[in-house]
Amino acid sequence: MNTTKTINLKNRPKGRPEVTDFDFTTTEIPELKEGELLLKSKYVSVDPYLRGRMSDAPSYIEPFKVDKPIESGIIAEVLESKDSNFSKGDYVSGTLDWKETQVSNAKGLMKVDPDKAPLSAYLGVLGMTGLTAYLGLTEIGKPKKGETLLVSGAAGAVGSVVGQIGKILGLRVVGIAGTDEKVEMLKSEFGFDEGINYNTTKYMKEAIAKACPDGVDVYFDNVGGEISEAVLFNINKFSRTVNCGAISVYNDTELPKSISVQPFLVKKSSSMQGFVIFDFVDKHPAGIKQLTEWLNQDKLTYTETIREGFENIPQAFLDLFDGKNKGKMVVKL
Ligand code: NDP
Repeated sequence: MNTTKTINLKNRPKGRPEVTDFDFTTTEIPELKEGELLLKSKYVSVDPYLRGRMSDAPSYIEPFKVDKPIESGIIAEVLESKDSNFSKGDYVSGTLDWKETQVSNAKGLMKVDPDKAPLSAYLGVLGMTGLTAYLGLTEIGKPKKGETLLVSGAAGAVGSVVGQIGKILGLRVVGIAGTDEKVEMLKSEFGFDEGINYNTTKYMKEAIAKACPDGVDVYFDNVGGEISEAVLFNINKFSRTVNCGAISVYNDTELPKSISVQPFLVKKSSSMQGFVIFDFVDKHPAGIKQLTEWLNQDKLTYTETIREGFENIPQAFLDLFDGKNKGKMVVKL
């Protein structure tokens, strides 16, 4: 029986996860049965939402099991196929185990074409994070030309695409990110009009007011917490907040003390709506088509932080919480 390197969840982390919460092990690769594929992982996506799956709190997606493999978005090569829809040499994208080699029943796998885009792009701008940016902004943010869009987590995979789509749709776009280098990148590479480094800004409420002199019409929120509280003081009448994520509180062990959002929303007839990308499954194909079109027309661009080596997957994930990525964080095997 052949074996493969595997990364299991060792413990449910308390607070910030550490490398010791992962278990590097070897597991058996079963014999291939009819309808199955033998896959070799090429690119592994690491994403903030995996933190939620490491805990056992009820959520929109099942928790990982202790002593079982972690899974995430993976691009893999088909080494052997017993499914007539796939051939040896095809590349597929799907939610797969953190294993170098694995057998899959092909459920939920989608073929991707390395001639149309670099393989890693199917985990980012042409994958889950690109769709999150596009559908979150258009379906919930309902942006209108001439409005002001504020994006937190702006230099990451989702945020950098949100801001660019805002520009394509004719909005004034301001981004919040964690370093001066990232703020500079937002403006020079992604066309944002203005940026704020939240790590060096003492008074966020005032800094947002200065960067958004006409107030905030759409707030695309990737981070939650104190940054998003400061935004509340700057929202406009009929503004919309897109609650995409809240990475600043994912590792909290106690319920945060936060200000009440209700008075702000009432005074400004403003709305807040959370979403998960699976809410819009029927719109995914059209979303990918639109993102591809913008990429081909050079209206949209993207950046990635690519780490190398199977053993570095957990550290790449942990580094998301220290902002060590620009754009999409992926691990190349
Ligand atoms: P990113 O590529 O944005 O990576 C995470 C970034 O978050 C880091 O680079 C860092 O940038 C920032 N960050 C980390 N800690 C903090 C903190 N304490 N305060 C503020 N910023 C912080 O990740 P994604 O683009 O993949 O995801 C962005 C958000 O969108 C996440 O909250 C994620 O959970 C959510 N999401 C939601 C989906 C949905 O369906 N609703 C789908 C996909 C993602 P910096 O240097 O700027 O601090």
